[in-house]
Amino acid sequence: MTSDAAGNDLTRDLETFRQEATEKLASATSAAEVDELRIGYLGKKGALKGVLRGLGKLPPEQRAAAGAAANLVKTAIEEAVATARERCGGPVAKAGPTLDVTLPGSPAPIGSRHPVRQVARRLIHIFHNLGFAVADGPEVEDEWHNFIGLNIPPDHIARDPSESFYIEDDLLLRSQTSTVQIRVMENREPPFRIIAPGRVYRPDTVDASHSFQFHQIEGLMVEEGVTFGDLKTTLRLFFRQLFQKEVELRLRPSFFPFTEPSAEVDLRCPFCGGPGCKTCGRKGWIEMGGCGMVDPNVFEAVGIDPDRYTGFAFGMGIDRMTMAFYDIPDIRYLFENDVRFLDQFGIG
Ligand SMILES: [Zn+2]
Repeated sequence: MTSDAAGNDLTRDLETFRQEATEKLASATSAAEVDELRIGYLGKKGALKGVLRGLGKLPPEQRAAAGAAANLVKTAIEEAVATARERCGGPVAKAGPTLDVTLPGSPAPIGSRHPVRQVARRLIHIFHNLGFAVADGPEVEDEWHNFIGLNIPPDHIARDPSESFYIEDDLLLRSQTSTVQIRVMENREPPFRIIAPGRVYRPDTVDASHSFQFHQIEGLMVEEGVTFGDLKTTLRLFFRQLFQKEVELRLRPSFFPFTEPSAEVDLRCPFCGGPGCKTCGRKGWIEMGGCGMVDPNVFEAVGIDPDRYTGFAFGMGIDRMTMAFYDIPDIRYLFENDVRFLDQFGIG
């Protein structure tokens, strides 16, 4: 016998079975008789179970269709039972699926904080303890806040239209969180200490260590008498809290349009302590970001008296820090939102 023939046989059996069962139920005359027929056809050891055993012998591709046909037959017999019961005065079966309240529930998946967000929260907490409040700004910015107020001249490489995501002539996706410095200084009177964690955008080619979107944290402190020493102390206290041990900082002279003097911040690798490891690229130092004293031109642009006030600013990459903390080899993992990856970082 071919497998097709087996499938046809089963379909024929089911049809004969349905006819016989519905006819007998239609001619039943008492509730007891209806119940007996019901058990005989649909019960645990009933005839339908016997027919269904034939399903297992079918080739897999025919099983679904035969199973569906068997379900139709079962429903037809259940309906005939209900009609017969109504006629004979027996209990009427409830329509629709029944609810078993004793079954255990299905567990709901619990979400977790993104690892970048977990690290950002840690940074915010540490800076909060150092007296810094969180400030915020829009991700779509104008050229004034992204460049002009920050003393970045029109011929600066960063102003090249291919270096930023322009939306309109004067509107772009912010390329740095330093924009928030300008927004704060425009609207507040010193003294203040703020940090601005957030997302920034640059048209970088995407690879394991670059993305067109990433996260920065910006810091700004403006008061009378703030010095470069205060800047270094703040950074040292911050890193000591972050890594929960004594840290060694190295400030290398650098240049940024909005700070003067400016420096790159290197941290003695907290993972290997200096000899070099995978995280520090065998260098023993990790580049954490840039910093410096607020340029007097920036103070003038926002209407703060540079003869009275001084201030420092710093900026660091949150994604790089997250990758170092969790030993994540590729920045793209942070933006793919693959739940199998994100699930590994706990609830946070
Ligand atoms: Zn190292």
